[in-house]
Amino acid sequence: MKVVLLGPPGAGKGTQATGIVERYNIVHISTGDIFRKNVKEGTPLGKQAKAYMDKGELVPDELVIALVQDRLQQDDCKNGYLLDGFPRTTFQAEAMEKLGLAVDKVVDIQVADEILIGRATGRRVCKKCGSTYHATFRPTKVEGVCDECGGEVVLRADDEEATVTNRIAVYHKETAPLVDFYEKKGNIVHINGEEDAAVVQEKIFAALD
Ligand code: ADP
Ligand code: AMP
Repeated sequence: MKVVLLGPPGAGKGTQATGIVERYNIVHISTGDIFRKNVKEGTPLGKQAKAYMDKGELVPDELVIALVQDRLQQDDCKNGYLLDGFPRTTFQAEAMEKLGLAVDKVVDIQVADEILIGRATGRRVCKKCGSTYHATFRPTKVEGVCDECGGEVVLRADDEEATVTNRIAVYHKETAPLVDFYEKKGNIVHINGEEDAAVVQEKIFAALD
């Protein structure tokens, strides 16, 4: 199964991805996670991506496409993949098609802008293992400490309110047109992402089963 998770920043893509990859035994590929790892490790790719990420802008298409093409060729993708945060522009979606990278189903998680701001600014991530929490909706048992690995749990650099606002605007301009793109292909399902995370999960499973 080859699935794309579409939705604005803070919609719950990463949160939902964990259960989806477990249920369908596919790999989770988050381009945002890959970029953050490269920034942390100071690789040439990370150095190129950082300036865009800090401003809440998209990393240039060529960099992202090369990275995804390379990742999808790896052996663990043979049983299928869940793309989280890619494609994010029509150019990226068209490039996928040209490269023969298949998409069986697109899951579009819909959440209103005013809710997204609270989701993203309240998001807390573990510096060590990447687990995601929310200051109000999914707090850690001990403040600032990851339940999974004991690592430090912090605000993501691009989750400051001004950057989140820009990321939402970039989503509407660059990424939202993909809803129409996949609507024309007839392989997109729309899920209300404003409900409780467990309810959203059940609806996604029902759409993918
Ligand atoms: P995305 O990957 O789409 O940017 P995340 O999965 O990281 O979004 O979720 C953003 C924040 O919102 C996180 O702090 C997460 O814990 C929280 N969250 C996710 N889904 C829900 C939900 N259905 N209700 C409330 N909070 C949620
Ligand atoms: P995310 O974790 O999905 O919210 O992504 C964090 C940041 O990484 C984005 O704001 C972009 O700067 C960059 N990024 C991730 N995926 C893409 C993509 N497909 N195209 C362009 N930039 C991306």
